[in-house]
Formats: sequence, C-alpha cells, structure tokens
Amino acid sequence: MTALTELSLSAALDAMRRKDMSAVELTRAYLERIDALEPSLRAYITMTPERALADAARADEARAAGDDRPLLGIPLAIKDVLSTRDIQTTCASQILKGYVPVYDATVVKRLTDAGMVMLGKANMDEFAMGSSTENSSYQITRNPWDTSRVPGGSSGGSAAAVAGQLALGAVGTDTGGSIRTPAAFCGIVGLKPSYGRVSRYGLIAFGSSLDQAGPITRTVEDAARMFTVMAGHDPLDSTSMDTPVNDVMATMRDGVKGLRVGVPKEYFIDGMSPESEARVREAIAQLEALGAKVVEISLPHTRYSLPVYYIIAPAEASANLARFDGIRFGPRLEKGEMWHTYKATRGQFGPEVKRRIMLGTYALSAGYYDAFYGKAQQVRTLIKRDFERAFETVDVIAAPVTPKGAFPIGSKTSDPLEMYLEDVFTLPASLAGVPGISVPCGFDDNHMPIGLQLIAPAFREDVLIRAAYAYEQATTWHTLLPRVTTA
Ligand code: GLN
Repeated sequence: MTALTELSLSAALDAMRRKDMSAVELTRAYLERIDALEPSLRAYITMTPERALADAARADEARAAGDDRPLLGIPLAIKDVLSTRDIQTTCASQILKGYVPVYDATVVKRLTDAGMVMLGKANMDEFAMGSSTENSSYQITRNPWDTSRVPGGSSGGSAAAVAGQLALGAVGTDTGGSIRTPAAFCGIVGLKPSYGRVSRYGLIAFGSSLDQAGPITRTVEDAARMFTVMAGHDPLDSTSMDTPVNDVMATMRDGVKGLRVGVPKEYFIDGMSPESEARVREAIAQLEALGAKVVEISLPHTRYSLPVYYIIAPAEASANLARFDGIRFGPRLEKGEMWHTYKATRGQFGPEVKRRIMLGTYALSAGYYDAFYGKAQQVRTLIKRDFERAFETVDVIAAPVTPKGAFPIGSKTSDPLEMYLEDVFTLPASLAGVPGISVPCGFDDNHMPIGLQLIAPAFREDVLIRAAYAYEQATTWHTLLPRVTTA
C-alpha cells in the first residue's frame, strides 16, 4: 500500500470523498513524517500540529455533514512571508521574531475558507531575498533529493516540504523566481500567477510591483486546484485585477494539439549546464510530439532583465522595509539616543537584506533616481513589450527555469552576483507580470531535478496549465519522489 503522504492532493481528496481515509488520518501521517524528517530537512520555521489536528477534525465533521469544499482536509504549508492570524510570522528575519499578526493574508483566508489543514509556516530567504533559502536567519533548509544541496529559494521551505512529503501542497511567493526556482530544484510544480491575479493583502512586501503568491505542489492538477482557490479580485488589494479568473480546471485536459510554442533563443546561453539544456530541449520535443507547433522566437531585451530587476526590486524593498524601525514594527533595541536606537534596531537585518536596502536607497536617492530607477523602469517596459510581441505569434513560451540543477549548500554564499545569476531565466516573466510555471522534466548528472518553464500571456493561466498538464501526463517525472534519509 502506498503511504498516505504519497498521495497527490487530488488523490487525497478522492480518498476522503470515498471515505477511504479521514482528514485526521492524513494529517497524522504528515505530522508523523514531519517528526521523523524535519530534523533532516528543516523546512518549517513554525509548526502548528495542534492547529492542524483541530482543522482536520473540523474537516471530517464537515464532510460527514455533506460539505465538499475544494481543499477540505488538505494539509498545507504556508510560506512565512504570509500573515497568519495568531501564528508567528517572521519572514525568516530576526526583526520579526515573535511577531504575531492579528489578521490573515487574503490568500490564507481563502485557503482556510476552502477547508485547508494548516501544518505550519515554511522557511524562506529573509524577506524573500535569495535563490537558495540560505539567507534565512533561522536555519538552512535541505533539498530532499540530496540533503547536501540547497532546495532553491526563496520559497525553499515550501518546496522542500512538498517534495519531502512534509506537506501535501504549499504556498510560495515569487518576486523574481522564488516559486519556480525551488519547484525546479526540488522536482515539483510551482506556479507563479500573473501579477494582479492573486491578492497581496497580508503578504509582507518585498517588491510591491512584482510579488505574487502561488501554489507549489507535486502535480499540475494539484496546482490548478490551489490556484482556483487563491486567485481572484480582492477589494483589500488595489493591484488585484477585477476581471474573471479563467476556469483552469475546465480546460486542463484539452491537450496541446495546434498550440503554438515559442522557444526564445536568448534562453539558451553559455553557462547553462549541457544536461539542463538537453532535458529542456527533450521536453520541448515532447510537446511537439503531442501536436504542438514549436517555433523559435526572440525576446531581445532578455539580457537586461538581471540589471533591471536588481535595481527595481531593491528600490521597492528599501521603501517597504523602512517600516521595520523598532518604532512601528520590529523589536526595538534601546540605545539611548534616537539614532543609535534606530541603527541598532535596523542592524537586526541580515547581510543580504542590508545589501538590498543600500542598493535600493542609492538607486532612489536624489540625483540618481532618473539614471537608475527611472531608466530601469523604461527598460522594464521594453522587456514587457518583448513578451507582448512574442504572444502575437505564439500561445505559450517554453524555456529553462534555471541554468543548472540545485547546487551544494555554501557554494554560492560568498558571491552575491553568482547567486543573482541563478535568476536569469525567471526574472523576465516577473518583470513583465506574466504567469510562469515550472514542471519537472528530468535530472542532471548529479541526479538533481531539472525544471521546464512555461510562460503564458497575462491572465492566461488556463493556457499555462493546459500545456503543463499535457506535458506532465506524457511523462513520469512527477511520479518520482525522493527518498529522504534521516539526519
Ligand atoms: N532570487 C531573487 C531575489 O533574490 C528572487 C527572489 C524572489 O522571487 N522572492 O531577489
């Protein structure tokens, strides 16, 4: 018999509907596995086992009374950047240690209303700044496929939890790749919705014009189910779009016959591992074999994405993080004179966060604003136009997620630029606000997973999910689970 934690979200829902399994049984199975393997993986900052069992018991009662909400009894992990009422929310920062929000992020509320069981808050890079989760000020999360390697970031706790079967699904957030990269590194599915599709209310801001929450799951169908619950207009977030959400479940099985798939030549560059390139090209050939029409396209401004992102995101971060000053938010380190207090308090940020604040305040300072921030915004428009032009001739874009598979812990921490280079293929879609998904497409020579990235026009998550589902169903990668050994 398969272990309960090996079931996909969709299979678990079916089993609960058939009364083959209760939500309490499923939740217990997860809590037992967390007890056994969390010491090796360190995916959670805060675990909420009592809350989980109470949620599960309520879910079973509700189901017995005929309730069939879309995520009823499904145990999930929430990235610790999302506010959770009565549960500590740290953003993996010492500056928010002990902070207990008085309200739920809209995403959390929607998942709760849909019946989720909350397992806990997942580890991440501090304030979501990073690509490996090594910037967490609490702990280093390990990749379930090889615990000497990183799980990717910044939603590395979420991805490691899902791949390691310490959660059935998770919420991540993506500002420049933080859902897609850890999903790729951990061999699972990560969906970054279009900017404005999912509410940012209660999502502690990093780059306000970029941040989006999305699902991290073991299958495309599971991602579609979570997305359906999470997406939609929210009057509490003025950047959330008041347009109908396409029914991604309804078209998921429509296949890719005749779908025009564009392959951007700028995404196959020197420095990419030959195995990654080979796996991604095989995946594209698979889409072609399924009836898609594959064409080469050009996104000419791709190479500016990295410099543009690393001006815009730090600039927005420096403004967003100004509130953590020990006066409004954050534990105050009292040092007598005001400026000393202020300096000591803000000294609690980790090195990467400080680096971003410095970069951002510099780019926004008088005399430099036009040269840096203003110019970056202009080039961002060109990057967005590249996508608009491409989507006049293709329906979906296929590309790699990262240049290589997961790297060893500690191998890039001394060189921030090396770490930033991990983001080259995920940043463009973030800057353009279009949706992207990472789907597992094989392994590299180190036996680490590789991801295929699909990108669709804004608000066409339906096309994205349809293409991703067709590819996934034609392959077996999503059926493979890592064998995690205890520490
Ligand atoms: N790696 C990128 C950064 O460090 C993206 C992070 C994210 O998407 N949150 O900023």
